Amino acid sequence: MTTAQSPREGCEGYRRPAGRFPGRAGRRRAIVLGGVHLIIALHLLHWMVTGNTVSPVEPSESMYTLENGEVNAGFIFFIVVILSTAVLGRWFCGWACHVVALQDLCGWMMRKMGVQPRPFRSRLLAWVPYLLAFYMFFWPTLKRWSFPWLEQQIPAMVAWFTPVAPWPGFSNHLLVHDFWATFPSVLVAIPFFAICGFATVYLLGAKGFCTYGCPYGAFFTVADRIAPMTIVANMEACESCGLCTANCSSNVQISREIHIHDQVVDPGCMKCLDCVDVCPNGVLSYGPARPSMFVSGGPQSPKVRRKSHLSLTGEILLAIFFTLTWFSWRGVYEQIPLLMATGIALCATFLVWKSSQLLRRQDTSLQGISLHRAGTTSRAGRIVLAITTITILLTISAGQSRWSQNLAEQNFDAAMINLDQVLIAGQDPIPEQTKATAKRAADHFRDLLRFDRGGYALLEPAGTVLEERIGYMSAIAGDFEQARHWWQQAISENPSDELLLRYGQLVERVDGVKPLAIWLDDARKQYGDRAVLIGLRADLGRRQAFSALQQGQPMAAASHLKVLVRWIGEEPGLLEDIALLLDQAEATEEAKQFRERANFIRANGGIPAPVPDRP
Ligand code: SF4
Ligand code: SF4
Repeated sequence: MTTAQSPREGCEGYRRPAGRFPGRAGRRRAIVLGGVHLIIALHLLHWMVTGNTVSPVEPSESMYTLENGEVNAGFIFFIVVILSTAVLGRWFCGWACHVVALQDLCGWMMRKMGVQPRPFRSRLLAWVPYLLAFYMFFWPTLKRWSFPWLEQQIPAMVAWFTPVAPWPGFSNHLLVHDFWATFPSVLVAIPFFAICGFATVYLLGAKGFCTYGCPYGAFFTVADRIAPMTIVANMEACESCGLCTANCSSNVQISREIHIHDQVVDPGCMKCLDCVDVCPNGVLSYGPARPSMFVSGGPQSPKVRRKSHLSLTGEILLAIFFTLTWFSWRGVYEQIPLLMATGIALCATFLVWKSSQLLRRQDTSLQGISLHRAGTTSRAGRIVLAITTITILLTISAGQSRWSQNLAEQNFDAAMINLDQVLIAGQDPIPEQTKATAKRAADHFRDLLRFDRGGYALLEPAGTVLEERIGYMSAIAGDFEQARHWWQQAISENPSDELLLRYGQLVERVDGVKPLAIWLDDARKQYGDRAVLIGLRADLGRRQAFSALQQGQPMAAASHLKVLVRWIGEEPGLLEDIALLLDQAEATEEAKQFRERANFIRANGGIPAPVPDRP
């Protein structure tokens, strides 16, 4: 048997022999990943049945531990996985991650359709997972430490970031009632799977999202480099056929690495064991080895380091485009979560790169499909150009919305005051500067409306957050008609207690007490005996009674309180107040009836009984 010194030329292009995929390791992994998803489904079912369960076992939950001190199952799980990675190598991604399962499924489906996604290589974009890990897990703490000082030095800069809450200390969040609170809605989850699964796999390669978008992978990469377990090779038997490299969906240069180091050193290796399975000579196995950080050169060795598809200028330009795109999509419409924004930005960046190649080069192809040949753009090329153009236009629209959202929130925070100061008569006047800031906030929030409702956005945040905020800011700016308009819209969709209270106060402030009484009667018919409506009506009735009494009209005052019996029931105290007023109005017989009624209710343990002459 010959001992090969280097992999065969072009081994990366080799394919696994037809009919052998997914192989023993692949099948084992599919069974394990199926089991993981079954456990997730059972966890969800437990919550749906009992309403209370263990908090989500998701690494992303660690953010809430580091930001809010909430110790949850996800944080403990993440720590355990990082520690185990430092011993076993990067196993979690290959054997337990649902995003890898999704990518594997997409890759498998594409191979069935004859598409073998080739990996995209960029050195600068490979830093994205590390930056995301910093943003998610270290930035909140850094912000908490540094912002009190920065707020004094550069307040304008700090205003662009969400406010920092003081560290609340650790609290137990191992069990939760609102299991889904930190997850996106189903409407967001479906495009998330399409973008972070199919699109990234097709455009960036079989593990495109892991390579360029996974913040947890950044931790596993670091832990993997000190792990004493990896894929090792018995080089005596290697024939440099390159099958291992060709079949590694993590894009590890196995053949090249084992020829240099006798082991795999790339921390992108997910220990899926596909290479062990596919090697015809049994060269590879999973076992003890020198941690890659102590291997001379390691994955950074020039012989092992993968070549980028981009020039330095290209790397820089695409990194700038990625950053702008990511900031445009992150949190836009209050719907797009961080990982989805990352997936969108990665796909958009790749499309821009591919389209620029298409426009500049004689021959360009995408996953084996010719886009441009001998100066002629093919139908597929025109489709890619159209998709790229649409993606850029959508990104510009998202960026505009994100910009308006930032400005709106900044002005909203600056103008926010207790609405009692605006809606209740006799309060101190609102400073003109606050009014102007509130007007600016209302204008920026209006920009966030969908274009068919007068704004510039393609989508709006879920619920009535925009209507409520425009109404809120319009009220502070003194534009009560606008406030009325937007709160009416918000109430028609979401008649919350706060909105009903504020709307009632607004009606009284603008139209007076009688229109308020009429609106309250209508609102009660529509929304039922809500405590907020009853509270507003009781307050109104008592104020009307007090005012009538001050004008020397005890009978009118009694009438105002009698109305309240229909709202708050036969409360003995209320009946006695009515009796007192009737006494003052010299309606002693009626006063006697109310007093007797109050005594009767008290004597019967406060249980109201029918009133013959119920007002
Ligand atoms: S598949 Fe086996 S024999 Fe072929 S290059 Fe890889 S380790 Fe060597
Ligand atoms: S090097 Fe082998 S074990 Fe590691 S990811 Fe590639 S195929 Fe899987």
